[in-house]
Amino acid sequence: MPARDLVSRDVRRLSLGADPVEYVLVRRRGRRGVGLKVDENGLTVSAPSTMPLARIESMVRESERWVLRKIAEWRTRQVPPVRWEDGAELPCLGLHVRLRISRGSRTHTELVGDTLHVAVRTPEAAQVRRAVVAWYKRVAREHLERRLRELALEAGIAPPRFFLSSALARWGSCNSRREIRLAWRLVKAPPALVDYVICHELAHLRHMNHSAAFWAEVGRQCPDYRRMRAALFATDHLYRAF
Ligand SMILES: [Zn+2]
Repeated sequence: MPARDLVSRDVRRLSLGADPVEYVLVRRRGRRGVGLKVDENGLTVSAPSTMPLARIESMVRESERWVLRKIAEWRTRQVPPVRWEDGAELPCLGLHVRLRISRGSRTHTELVGDTLHVAVRTPEAAQVRRAVVAWYKRVAREHLERRLRELALEAGIAPPRFFLSSALARWGSCNSRREIRLAWRLVKAPPALVDYVICHELAHLRHMNHSAAFWAEVGRQCPDYRRMRAALFATDHLYRAF
């Protein structure tokens, strides 16, 4: 449907099953029924422009089991193992980076456009993987440290100390010594999601909790944080593939 029929697009929350579920409500002029879609961005509900919210949400609840099952499927989706071979695609800061593997007398990695040239002595999976992970860590150190500094200054906070982390289960953490740790795997996500995680950790420098005041602080710098959080929640398994 053309964008001109779009009336509004809001992030909302309703309880389904045991938990509140965030969803995006898209209202369109000329639309008749209510449509549900679950994908890597979570639940999207499309509805006519004038349908009362209570009626929309009761229709979503009628499909509660389907919605919860689809969300669970996305959450636990099996990540296909990375093929560490020529032509494989890897995500990096919103790019789909394509691997070009060659033999070299020493290990060398270089990104040209969206092609990552990887030279290794023997093009076997373990060597390619090691070279690519080292490259990701270099990208992560540069990008995360720079964005942390820029977003701290934008928020009027003295830039905290930065450490690169290899954590698999948490994207960022922060402590009372004003040290922020960010996972190198985070640069597999698009830049907007990376910025959200950084704003989240920076807000913890002012509020060491997840109170309403904390989320208001996050929202000042990252007004779209609800959507970012939902997107990170829905896709984070992809970033853990290696
Ligand atoms: Zn937090």
